[in-house]
Amino acid sequence: MFNINNILRENIKNLKPYSSARDEFKGDASVYLDANENAFGSPLNKDYNRYPDPLQYAVKMRLSEIKGVPARNIFLGNGSDEAIDILFRSFCNPGVDNVILVPPTYGMYEVSANINDIAIKRVNLTDEYQLNLEGIAEAIDKNTKLIFVCSPNNPTGNSINRDDIETLLANFKGLVVVDEAYINYSRQKTFIQELTEYANLVVLQTLSKAWGLAALRVGMAFASEEIIEVMNKVKPPYNINEASQQLALEALQNVEQVNGWIKETLTERDNLVLKLKEFDFVVDIYPSDANFILVKTTDAKGIYNYLVEHGIIVRDRSKVELCEGALRVTIGTPQENITLINTLTNFK
Ligand SMILES: *Cc1c(COP(=O)(O)O)cnc(C)c1O
Repeated sequence: MFNINNILRENIKNLKPYSSARDEFKGDASVYLDANENAFGSPLNKDYNRYPDPLQYAVKMRLSEIKGVPARNIFLGNGSDEAIDILFRSFCNPGVDNVILVPPTYGMYEVSANINDIAIKRVNLTDEYQLNLEGIAEAIDKNTKLIFVCSPNNPTGNSINRDDIETLLANFKGLVVVDEAYINYSRQKTFIQELTEYANLVVLQTLSKAWGLAALRVGMAFASEEIIEVMNKVKPPYNINEASQQLALEALQNVEQVNGWIKETLTERDNLVLKLKEFDFVVDIYPSDANFILVKTTDAKGIYNYLVEHGIIVRDRSKVELCEGALRVTIGTPQENITLINTLTNFK
């Protein structure tokens, strides 16, 4: 059975969190003289002179409606990158513990591990970009605290088999972190409904991709109440600023618009795949469940440089293991995708 106390760092278990003015007094009053703010106002004529809600209650209530998950199971980070970092800081002892990564995958897990001085055990995905469960089982030792699974995976675009993720969840004594940054584009269903089933599950999502709010830096973690409590204790008190909270709340009213963009992106993705496959220099395009495609080519560097010369930037992933010759292309607007295809027509 999973027990959070078996994996929590001792210093975090004993941590008395910072208590801010906004933590200590909750409720309504007419005169606030408790936080050393500028009582006269802000030059922006909004409530920006006041510290924001440390636990982002209004945003979480709206997310709770949209996601069908109670607010107490939601953590908000300054991007999901902050949630990743907080998982390391809460559960991994520097110089002692390790995590399992399954490359090729999102680069931030490795950077965050390195910053926190946590050893990385790499178990490459199979040739089909799926989990090597035997390899993972062999790599796990008593100091393995986290396994990161990105699904749909960046940069390969495919979803990871659900049964395999469930096998990890059922057998691993640490946390399985399922990064669903691209879930809105996927045919697979989210894992956030499984939180009651698996106490060791953390699901990451973000407002940076389908929601079109990369600049606001709002990421979400969904997990058991006890995991969320730990993350809230470790995070900086005011990690989501007031402007981002207000704008996120406003944006979260526009579900229809976002769903429209998602549908259009999927149509564009199918079109782009068909057109790209006609080029001789395209060897293969991997099936994608995301808003990008991984395109295996005969000359990744040449195509990349040629596109840059024409003002079009894609991501060169050809140096990444298992992605040899591959470019990662984000799905653009219909016009942008036409420009890409027309430009590639003249590539020699
Ligand atoms: C883009 C991306 C994120 C998003 O990170 P934010 O910090 O929320 O912008 C997280 N995970 C993966 C796999 C991504 O590709």
